Amino acid sequence: MSRIAVLTSGGDSPGMNSAVTSIARTAAYYGLSLIGIKRGYNGLLGLKDGAENDIYEMNLDTVLDLADLPGTYLRTARCAQFMDPKVREEAARNLKQLDVIGLVVIGGDGSFHGAQQLCKLGIPCIGIPGTIDNDLPYTEMTLGYDTAVNCDVEAVRAIRATSRSHDRPAVVEVMGRNCGDIALSTAEATGSEIVLVPEMPWSVEEVAERLTKLVAAGNTRATIVVAEGAYASMKPFDVYEYLRPFGKEVYHGQHMNANLLASTLKHMTHAEVRATVIGYTQRGCQPTARDCTFAFEAGNMAVVLLKSGIGNQVIGTRNNRTFHTSIDTALCETRNFKESLYNLINSL
Ligand code: ADP
Repeated sequence: MSRIAVLTSGGDSPGMNSAVTSIARTAAYYGLSLIGIKRGYNGLLGLKDGAENDIYEMNLDTVLDLADLPGTYLRTARCAQFMDPKVREEAARNLKQLDVIGLVVIGGDGSFHGAQQLCKLGIPCIGIPGTIDNDLPYTEMTLGYDTAVNCDVEAVRAIRATSRSHDRPAVVEVMGRNCGDIALSTAEATGSEIVLVPEMPWSVEEVAERLTKLVAAGNTRATIVVAEGAYASMKPFDVYEYLRPFGKEVYHGQHMNANLLASTLKHMTHAEVRATVIGYTQRGCQPTARDCTFAFEAGNMAVVLLKSGIGNQVIGTRNNRTFHTSIDTALCETRNFKESLYNLINSL
């Protein structure tokens, strides 16, 4: 019986299990068996629990129970050793010994670079973009992004309700690493008045000025959605120098964060600004229907490609359709940040 292998790698994202379920169902349909590899590229090397436990044949019945679960049943991890060409050669040898016709890698940009290297070593790989960050330019959405945005929208709506009750503006930090898409979509969907992202420079003084105007106009629940990576695009501001005279416990050279931003804005605007960091709930939520449908189509496409002898591809969505393109082309594309939307949100 021919076999394919699947692993999840990098940060987990809602929908990874749904994709594995779709892969398992399609594989079973074509009479292929499915090998699960645990904890990303570590599993290929038997680094955690030994090859006999990290690499195992997945039973369709068990896999069917996973579809609705958040997280990733296969576990995920980063694998620093995989940056070493010799280690990758060992992984490719192990895969050849398993006699698989190909490997499906569900992960983000880094995981795709790993898959690209395995392709060069003769292992046909298919990538499914599993990351909440939406930071892969070749695809309109990554698996988990829609769920993360919906999770944030629900949280921001709740924060805006209590903010209104108490006349307190809010700083809400969301995830996304170096990509501001989660913050942008969350701000757009919730009607938040200020959004800060890593793609655009911003200053604390400008934010304070806009917040002061909003509050003066009666908008006491004004909400600042800040992407976790946005502090890197902040114009220089010495948190220590500014907050220390107010008795705030800050240390010299301390970097800006959501709490310090709220404290700074509170002193600058005299409004009771409060901070919330939404955190890991964004990664562990039940996947939305949109993510599950993409997972279903992507998992199916991955197996069909490998069965047809086509490798070195990644799957994405364009014009709302699931498509595939070469991994090399995909990794060369550059991102187009929605600057006009960013400007609109920050000016209305
Ligand atoms: P993500 O896939 O979510 O972007 P990482 O960037 O942490 O997460 O990458 C996940 C794993 O992919 C890394 O731990 C490493 O094993 C592998 N990887 C990342 N970059 C490369 C690379 N340039 N070459 C080979 N493998 C890589």
